[in-house]
Amino acid sequence: MSFAVDLHTHTRFGSNCSYMEPRQLVQRAREIGLDGVCITEHNAAWEEEALRALAEESGLCLLGGIEVSSEVGDVLVFGVKDSLLPGRRIADLRRLVDEAGGVMIAAHPFRWYSLPGAILDEEEAAGRAVFRMVDAVEVFNGASPRGEVEFGCRVLKRLGLAGVGGSDSHAPHSVGRCYTEFEREIGSVEELVAEIKGGRFRAVYPGLSLVL
Ligand SMILES: [Zn+2]
Ligand SMILES: [Zn+2]
Repeated sequence: MSFAVDLHTHTRFGSNCSYMEPRQLVQRAREIGLDGVCITEHNAAWEEEALRALAEESGLCLLGGIEVSSEVGDVLVFGVKDSLLPGRRIADLRRLVDEAGGVMIAAHPFRWYSLPGAILDEEEAAGRAVFRMVDAVEVFNGASPRGEVEFGCRVLKRLGLAGVGGSDSHAPHSVGRCYTEFEREIGSVEELVAEIKGGRFRAVYPGLSLVL
């Protein structure tokens, strides 16, 4: 079996940069056949109660995470209950996440790829500090152009780190643009964390015909 989860989405409820209602998110996710969605607002977690209510209504596996800003870039965190994460240095964040038994994923770490003066050397890119601090890397991000994604795949190969897919969607049309396909069904954040730690997944980017 396979279980498709969009690991990275934002709603109006917790991210003021998003104009997607939570209901639109789950509706769109169901339409395109996703099995699960992670809501990863910026620097704040959803109340469990609100998440559970939306999950029950939708019939989808809905999981809460947080996109935390750090000095080495954005990181998706799963498996940490409180919102004590914002404004942490990455090393402190790693310690907190380890204590809670969670996982950390580097979010869109190649977003700088198309900027003027970007590092286009794979080895140099692989040496970035964030990669020593995370359990996996979001190599497929819904906002990434093909060149960035392909560069990211090559860097990841060097690092020997696993890649995940998340749309980083802020609007319904981009939900599930890329996602992560797990080998087992997932019903809770604990199970998500276990599957990520166990490496039982692959990243999928249908629009670019890429699977990692
Ligand atoms: Zn981000
Ligand atoms: Zn994001």
